[in-house]
Amino acid sequence: MTQRRPMVAGNWKMNGDAKLAKALFVEFNTTLSGHSPEVVLCPPATYLESVKHEFEQSALSFKQSVIKLGAQSVSEHDVGAYTGEISASMLKDLGCQYVIIGHSERRSLYGETSHTIAEKFAAAKKQNLTPILCIGESSSEREANKTFKVIGDELNTIIERNGINAFDNAVIAYEPLWAIGSGNSATPEQAQEVHAFIRKRLLEVSPLVGENIRILYGGSVTPSNAADLFAQPDVDGGLIGGVSLKPTDFLSLCTIA
Ligand code: PGA
Repeated sequence: MTQRRPMVAGNWKMNGDAKLAKALFVEFNTTLSGHSPEVVLCPPATYLESVKHEFEQSALSFKQSVIKLGAQSVSEHDVGAYTGEISASMLKDLGCQYVIIGHSERRSLYGETSHTIAEKFAAAKKQNLTPILCIGESSSEREANKTFKVIGDELNTIIERNGINAFDNAVIAYEPLWAIGSGNSATPEQAQEVHAFIRKRLLEVSPLVGENIRILYGGSVTPSNAADLFAQPDVDGGLIGGVSLKPTDFLSLCTIA
């Protein structure tokens, strides 16, 4: 069986500043050991440079293999008249290796459709950025027993547009909408059930992709519930919102993973 390297990704959303980047690296320098999970920091685009700067100044000798830079979104277009958008090649220029795609806030607040998300996924892959694809059901979909249908459809849209091999090296984040920012995390059993479903679905199409892909859990992860969530066999780490803004707590999640 493959040993998947755990990952903890911090999504700052529209929060934080250059001071937070500094505070995080002070914490990393004192706490993080060489045997850490992969840590991905996804600040707002305006602070990617500050995080990169702190990263380059940091005393971590093993930093290249541990801490990576990620963006929160990307344009589906390569170049052109798209006011306010940032392309995958621009993110590459800034030193990003990862990009979050299809976060539920992008879907619900900015009208991103499954089609747009599949195009963004393609744009990221084209520039060798690793997509962290967010999928998850709403509370009404869960109550109506539609969780697996919603998750299956979200995966299918990506596979139909990009092929199964596009999931090679990609990361999936299962984020039930009702758990995001609510303080009401999925139970470890609920998370494991959906993660196992996602992995099985991918295994059916490609055993290699299914076995290797990292599936993160996201939605109200805290230092007190992380150990049980991350201990599930198909949970390979977390996508963290609120707690990624608190250096000490975020570090303790990295240590738990
Ligand atoms: P949360 O956010 O950890 O604050 O619930 C998770 C996310 O939106 O990725």
